Amino acid sequence: MMEINPFCRIYTLSTYYDFRANVDVLRLDQVHPVISGNKWFKLQVYLQEAKKQHKVLLTFGGAFSNHIVATAAAAQQAGLKSIGIIRGEQGPVLSHTLLQAQAYGMKLCFTSRASYKEKKIPAEIMDDHGLDKLYVVPEGGYGTKGAKGAEDILQKNNTNSYSHIMAAVGTGTTIAGLTAAAKEGQKVIGISVMKNNLSLAEEISRLLPPAKQACFRLLHDYHFGGYARKTPEVIRFMNELYKKTAIPTDFVYTAKTFYAAFDLLQKGFFTAGDRLLLVHTGGLQGNLSLPKGTLIFG
Ligand SMILES: *Cc1c(COP(=O)(O)O)cnc(C)c1O
Repeated sequence: MMEINPFCRIYTLSTYYDFRANVDVLRLDQVHPVISGNKWFKLQVYLQEAKKQHKVLLTFGGAFSNHIVATAAAAQQAGLKSIGIIRGEQGPVLSHTLLQAQAYGMKLCFTSRASYKEKKIPAEIMDDHGLDKLYVVPEGGYGTKGAKGAEDILQKNNTNSYSHIMAAVGTGTTIAGLTAAAKEGQKVIGISVMKNNLSLAEEISRLLPPAKQACFRLLHDYHFGGYARKTPEVIRFMNELYKKTAIPTDFVYTAKTFYAAFDLLQKGFFTAGDRLLLVHTGGLQGNLSLPKGTLIFG
């Protein structure tokens, strides 16, 4: 499997668009075709610990989860066994995401939505392994260890000159890591891809030291109907962005984040002299769930 390193390319958008501020993109989507960007960073501490303790990696996710497939691939690369607890009953066909996770050696175990909600580890898994042999990674990699790994996104790349750093927010683990690693004066902005997730700020603050708990800003106006929802406008935006810049985005996270940045730039949120770093968090495998021909890129 391809080696991964945390050093990412930075692309400037200011050559393609007449923005008032300087806008660059940190391409985490290029770290690996499957272990998409931010997931790889978030998994680092968990992987190291599981490896040290000689454990089997176990985590939770839905049928289209970037986290599930990233964990499968990263575990295989680290020489660890992995188990995915999947929300809901198994359907007649597996999603692209789950097929790929399986191909990376992940054992899939489907559970009812009720027991998934409680994050129960199914009895058959307990019988096979025993709790002391399992290393549990929380759903979406949420936690202080996930945030710690995400700090490297800024620390391993040349990001000190930016006035603003913007990224998509799901569990908030990545934005917590970015906030923790941001330099004094750098403004961190998270774009929530969920509708009315009002507990999000609190969940992010919980991952941060007291002095950093108010050092990020969340915007809730760019969810386009809610998690994994989309409008024709989002798809049109993705195709136009790709046509102009050759940067692919995913419809769940990065398209909404880029859209938000463009909208804010147009509305004068940023001023001349500002330097915005858009973090492309990856997630491109999620586009495989779209009907063929929706996007002009694969
Ligand atoms: C999972 C994911 C996110 C959200 O990351 P959190 O740390 O859960 O907030 C953002 N972008 C992409 C592409 C993702 O796959």
